[in-house]
Amino acid sequence: MKIICIGRNYADHAKELNNPVPERPVVFMKPPSALLVNEKPFYYPDFTKDLHYECEVVLKICKNGKAVQPEFAHTYYNEIALGIDFTARDLQSELKKKGQPWELAKGFDNSAVLGKFLPIEDVRQPDGDIEFFLRKNGDEVQHGHTRDLLFPFDELIVFISRYFKLLQGDLIFTGTPAGVGPVQIGDLLEGFVLTKEGKAEKLLHCEVK
Ligand code: MG
Repeated sequence: MKIICIGRNYADHAKELNNPVPERPVVFMKPPSALLVNEKPFYYPDFTKDLHYECEVVLKICKNGKAVQPEFAHTYYNEIALGIDFTARDLQSELKKKGQPWELAKGFDNSAVLGKFLPIEDVRQPDGDIEFFLRKNGDEVQHGHTRDLLFPFDELIVFISRYFKLLQGDLIFTGTPAGVGPVQIGDLLEGFVLTKEGKAEKLLHCEVK
């Protein structure tokens, strides 16, 4: 199982970190050991003092595919979840400055928090948009619409599968909207998605310990 992540996929988030808007998807990976599921607590790691949450829509790949053509891309996923791409921002800034890969700052143990999945039809609005938001200790800190993605789901499937064969069960963290920020020990993160009926449904629960 691969965990494929997309960076800078919302223009407003690229801007808040003073990054340029990319011309093609920014792709990185987390190892399977990064996965944290079943609402298990997240333990603040000792190698950072600036751990950030990034709430993201996550696609689960439902069949194998290589060099997927655009017209078939939508058939490679049928469920979505919300996830947290935990990032050691201080470490990432240091690595970026040195031109080094991001893995230490992004791929560490339990850095890919994954909530429960719903069929994509249950959360897609009539115009195709998926609306989601993150609360930290009860206050909304991020609010996203997938219609704002620089590279929408199908384009990601086409792009990624040119380089990496997609396997059933692979996960794609599709990028985070603006509003990323630090967490402290004791914080509670809760992710919600709007259902077709307009009801906020909680998909993600993560306590930082
Ligand atoms: Mg991210």
